[in-house]
Amino acid sequence: MDSLSGGYRSELDSDIQYLPGVGPKRAALLRSELGVGTFGDLIRLYPFRYIDRSSITPIARIRPDMAYVQIRARVVNVEIPGGKRLSATVTDGSGEMELVFFKGLKWVSEKMKPGNEFIFFGKPSSFNGRINMVHPDIDPAPDNGGPGQTANNGQATGSGMNAGTMTGVYNSTEKLRNGGITGKVMTRLVSAALNAALDDVHESLPEYILKEKGLVPVRYALKNIHFPTDMAALEKARYRLKFEELFFLQLSLLKQKYIRSRGEKGILMSRVGEAFNICYRSLPFDLTGAQKRVIREIREDMRSGHQMNRLLQGDVGSGKTMVAVLSALIAIGNGCQACIMAPTEVLAQQHYRNISAYLEPTGVRAALLTGSSRTAERREIHAGLEDGSIGIIVGTHALIEDDVRFRNLGLAIIDEQHRFGVEQRAKLWRKTASGIPPHVLVMTATPIPRTLAMTLYGDLDVSVIDELPPGRKPVLTMHATEGKRPALYRFMKEQIALGRQVFVVYPLIFESETLDYRNLEQGFDQIARAFPLPDYKVAIVHGKQSNEDKKFNMDAFAAGRANILVATSVIEVGVDVPNASVMVIESAERFGLSQLHQLRGRVGRGSEKSYCILMTGNKVSRESRHRIELMCSTENGFELAEEDMKMRGPGDLEGTQQSGLPITLNIASLAKDGAILNDARAYAESVLDRDPGLTSSANAPLRDELRKEKYRIRDYSRIS
Ligand code: ADP
Ligand code: MG
Repeated sequence: MDSLSGGYRSELDSDIQYLPGVGPKRAALLRSELGVGTFGDLIRLYPFRYIDRSSITPIARIRPDMAYVQIRARVVNVEIPGGKRLSATVTDGSGEMELVFFKGLKWVSEKMKPGNEFIFFGKPSSFNGRINMVHPDIDPAPDNGGPGQTANNGQATGSGMNAGTMTGVYNSTEKLRNGGITGKVMTRLVSAALNAALDDVHESLPEYILKEKGLVPVRYALKNIHFPTDMAALEKARYRLKFEELFFLQLSLLKQKYIRSRGEKGILMSRVGEAFNICYRSLPFDLTGAQKRVIREIREDMRSGHQMNRLLQGDVGSGKTMVAVLSALIAIGNGCQACIMAPTEVLAQQHYRNISAYLEPTGVRAALLTGSSRTAERREIHAGLEDGSIGIIVGTHALIEDDVRFRNLGLAIIDEQHRFGVEQRAKLWRKTASGIPPHVLVMTATPIPRTLAMTLYGDLDVSVIDELPPGRKPVLTMHATEGKRPALYRFMKEQIALGRQVFVVYPLIFESETLDYRNLEQGFDQIARAFPLPDYKVAIVHGKQSNEDKKFNMDAFAAGRANILVATSVIEVGVDVPNASVMVIESAERFGLSQLHQLRGRVGRGSEKSYCILMTGNKVSRESRHRIELMCSTENGFELAEEDMKMRGPGDLEGTQQSGLPITLNIASLAKDGAILNDARAYAESVLDRDPGLTSSANAPLRDELRKEKYRIRDYSRIS
């Protein structure tokens, strides 16, 4: 049974070129276009949709608000007015419909000869009061038996695989089609692969899991994912395969977490302490419910005896700093020190200012250490950290240098984790006196959808502040194109006349740095001309300035001496300037959603009505337009992140490019299968609760599966 032992060779590993109907040429194509190198690979290449003969919608019944529909219709007439688009009229007896194509006109017109009948699949829409479909998929209409029967003409006869009414449609490419691997051929090849190798597929889930979760066996699932006997069978197959994929992903992540939480001792912090209580009592506001909940979660971690590894997500302005301070004070209350690391000098300074204010009544000493701290100051801070007189140190990367030693570091708070490399954080690890690693709290303002967080940081605990402090005014977000620039400048002048300040942000994307700087400089000149001295003062901040220049300009804006701050997005505009009420984002189409959202979070912090203006050229891509519309319609960061994920797929989500997804998902989608993911995670937890090492014989299949290369997941959270 076990393919690892003995000399048994599984057909799953057979080279795809030996599959009947393939050969060396097609094998090369399958490999390069689809990554299919073996029979097993082909079996695991699932259709992305199905043609279902049983659900043809008569044209007369189609409404523009319907989701995807399938019609079976004959081509009446094809026109290419002006050579720009192809318009085909088709009929099915119940009515006529127009099909519109903007691309591949030649290919479509050769295919769609009047009189021929096809199955069209697409989304109905309405144009000038008439219903049409734009770029529907075209499949030849089956004669009598339907597409399933066509597939049976190949080697698959007698397999019983095409008994159903549905046929899978596989991803295809121009090259595949040119190489003769059409949809029909794909169907035949998959069928052949199933015939040859399905018997060699072993059940990867233990019997008890199939029972408990009501899952169909793997062979049934694979057969029906390709050739469903009916809709119900397809659903069962799909559910089983998605669940399995997400379950193993979560199981591998959680197993690491289990191993760590049992292996890694944490500093026991059983008290809350006086400083915490003093600070808490002297707060000028009540904590939000979300802040309270998160502090409770952190407190539980810190007194568990295990190391805390927690990710704290919260939108800009949700009050994470407060949570950081109170957590740090718990460490202080237990005789430890805490450090707070920020990604930039500007942010570190700001944290330090805010934190010092909160600490005032507690008497806890805090200090700021950055790259530009002077030598004498630095020496004093080093001494204070070593003798323990400094309780909380705020800083940048300077904190992890070797000559920074703590008396007793108990908690490391890291703001915006993705900008710190693993090695950098590893250095922090070595700074505890006891040898027991510090508790770790990672804070991020980049909202990541929960489903993605659970996967990306599957071995971290995740806390979310999903509530903003009361009294925050909504930011009115608007889209404007170049033609509106004079109006924009008038509006900025009005706001400045009211005493407000304005951010103007330019994109700065690494690859085209020189060009971007030119844009920035031109933008600055344009603004300087439109807002001349002495009536207006314009400050500029960007990454190529010296630290002094940056600080000088930032301070001028923060102190209200400059009316306008022109900046790049690369420098952290994380400054808290409550009097700034207008955020203008230039070339907004070049920013991702979460970046736009982050920038917008810089305004709306004061008591005045705030505005965010997204400037774009006249022509923007559909995707950019969608992003901008979303920005104008919601201020909820998690909602935006969910949408972003749906639009771009989780792999491209901002803030995650560096880490990427731990493994590629073949059938499940983090964006769409959140419910299954939650279920799979909870179930994986229960399996590990019962058998943390997966050592029981019943769990042998799980052990085997997790040994596979794809589960060697990089560990994002671990500090050592
Ligand atoms: P974040 O770091 O999450 O962006 P901050 O901690 O900087 O947010 O908080 C934003 C602002 O809200 C700060 O001015 C802070 O003093 C204030 N704030 C934080 N918590 C509360 C609260 N519970 N009620 C009222 N204001 C709060
Ligand atoms: Mg903050």
